Amino acid sequence: MALDKYREKRDFAKSPEPVGATPRTSPTGRTPRFFCVQKHLASHLHYDFRLEHNGVLWSWAVPKGPSLDPATKRLAMHVEDHPLEYGEFEGVIPSGYGAGIVMLWDRGTWTPEVDDVDAALKKGDLKLTLDGYKLKGSWALVRTKGARWSPGGADRSWLLIKHRDQWAGDVDIATFAPLSVKSEGDFADILSRDNPDIWRTERPAKGGEAGAMYTRIVAQAMDMR
Ligand code: MN
Repeated sequence: MALDKYREKRDFAKSPEPVGATPRTSPTGRTPRFFCVQKHLASHLHYDFRLEHNGVLWSWAVPKGPSLDPATKRLAMHVEDHPLEYGEFEGVIPSGYGAGIVMLWDRGTWTPEVDDVDAALKKGDLKLTLDGYKLKGSWALVRTKGARWSPGGADRSWLLIKHRDQWAGDVDIATFAPLSVKSEGDFADILSRDNPDIWRTERPAKGGEAGAMYTRIVAQAMDMR
């Protein structure tokens, strides 16, 4: 099933992320449905771009985040489907896969600019309209060919591209609008609100690589204020 990979990677006894146990359906055709972008401070800062499709969130990890400049194509690594409930998630993942801080950076609806989304995804060329707080207008997700340098293989490598329209421009949206659309806070706010104790107690206990990562993430969250 679509969420098997998602569940395999996580221990829900230790992670606050949603299991996604309730089967969901999604709109079809050229009708609006949910999208979000989660800013994820983990081993590397990245932006998780998620589109509701067939009851789950199709997901891409975008290392540099979306760009409003049509000339700036952003690498987007296709990752495992996430449950629809994940779209409202914001908080601290204390350990394991994706350990770090998740911020709901943008959310809204997306509308396919094609009749057959499955065919477009299979073909590797999806044109869509976003109506979020930060991201709006026409975009494309295009699968790259022969990107042999990508860690997961060429087929996982896509580009997220803004189309030229009234919402395009040269403002650096990640810098201009860095905060959560859910809590209005930054990473440090989410960290202190959620469960700083886990990080304080896990850090010395873990030591080594994991301990160093916690220390770095906390420091980075403070630096970004
Ligand atoms: Mn992520």
